[in-house]
Amino acid sequence: MAADINAFVTEATIEGDADADGPLAGATVAVKDNISTAGIRTTCGSEMLADYVPPYSATVVDRLTDAGATIVGKTNMDEFGMGTTTETSAFGPTRNPVDTDRVPGGSSGGSAAAVAAGEADVALGSDTGGSVRCPAAFCGVVGIKPTYGLVSRYGLIAYANSLEQIGPIAGTVEEAAAALDAIAGDDPNDGTTRDLAEVEGADPDASYAAAADGDVDGLTVGVPTELFEGADERVVSTVEAAIADLEAKGAETTEISLPSVEHAVQAYYVIAMAEASSNLARFDGVRYGHRSDADGNWNDSFAETREEGFGAEVKRRILLGTYALSAGYHDKYYEKAQDARAWVRRDFEDAFDDVDVIASPTMPVLPFELGESLDDPLRMYLADANTTPVNLANLPAISVPAGETDGLPVGLQLVGPKFGEETIVRAASAVEDR
Ligand code: GLN
Repeated sequence: MAADINAFVTEATIEGDADADGPLAGATVAVKDNISTAGIRTTCGSEMLADYVPPYSATVVDRLTDAGATIVGKTNMDEFGMGTTTETSAFGPTRNPVDTDRVPGGSSGGSAAAVAAGEADVALGSDTGGSVRCPAAFCGVVGIKPTYGLVSRYGLIAYANSLEQIGPIAGTVEEAAAALDAIAGDDPNDGTTRDLAEVEGADPDASYAAAADGDVDGLTVGVPTELFEGADERVVSTVEAAIADLEAKGAETTEISLPSVEHAVQAYYVIAMAEASSNLARFDGVRYGHRSDADGNWNDSFAETREEGFGAEVKRRILLGTYALSAGYHDKYYEKAQDARAWVRRDFEDAFDDVDVIASPTMPVLPFELGESLDDPLRMYLADANTTPVNLANLPAISVPAGETDGLPVGLQLVGPKFGEETIVRAASAVEDR
């Protein structure tokens, strides 16, 4: 495997069921290192969990091996999923196989890079605010962020649990959809998963892979002005060309407005950091992971353990998240963010009264050069403008390659209504046939 791009934190094999047949039989799968694998260390890209070996596997891992796929390793990521470039990992940055001076995107950068470099057929990422779609866009591959509740989070080490879903990354829409077929479905171990038989309008027997038929005749595509404003012109023209191609194939496009999305990044970061501050409280040197050998009382040892175990970005978010939840500030920040979240959700609901899918650039920027955004967290956060609204609204979305500009990949994002995975897969497969 190409060590130079640093896609894997740990290379290790979990054999798939040799008797399985179906699209995943014999496929190789790389798994983001925040998804638990029994007996194989699962680091979250953090010093804190550098030696942590889970006693069980995530539901998604069991489902993939039952479907005949072989796990080939654990992929590098921004520490605890916090980042957009895969540079905040304690195990060094991953490089973009398309241009090794550039980042692969994040936080599931190792997963997208492994697929783009041919080191795995399929990969799993997790998407809290764009972490499957962003690296898919930057590495020129396909990534799906499922509807909240379609895929089990059992065994996913939480960053911001009300926002995140595990999703597949692959070279083609059909392969990503086949992996989604394998991992989707309710799970008694995750109470937030939904039984599709009980979801109005959803088809419990849906085959996402079969939906990759390229047929967009009669499909209505909404194009929200807000998600194009401020984006790099080269990105905009590449995405517009892909949308024009959908029109040529029989889709109808219509301009729409999502006024709330200008608040999405701010609302997302308040909610994500608030949830992170709570979820990461468990890393105390007693129950999991790293423990400082500093003498002293509980407070000293807890503080020292976290000082040593967490990197700068994680600390920043725990501090800000704790602040946003503290007495006196809760109403000012956290509740406002929840109001904005409700507004974003309503805006999308209204839009889907008139359109089948919503199209935009996945990322408003081209892949950063390594090191470029590290000292400027705000710039990094703003790059999530188009992906975070989707998590706030718990909707499904796919990033599919729209083309290249200056030799760099550009991703088109297609968002669907809740449990509308078949529609976004269908539309994305038409984009891919250009
Ligand atoms: N870049 C976003 C963040 O840092 C998204 C991360 C993710 O989806 N895990 O929070």
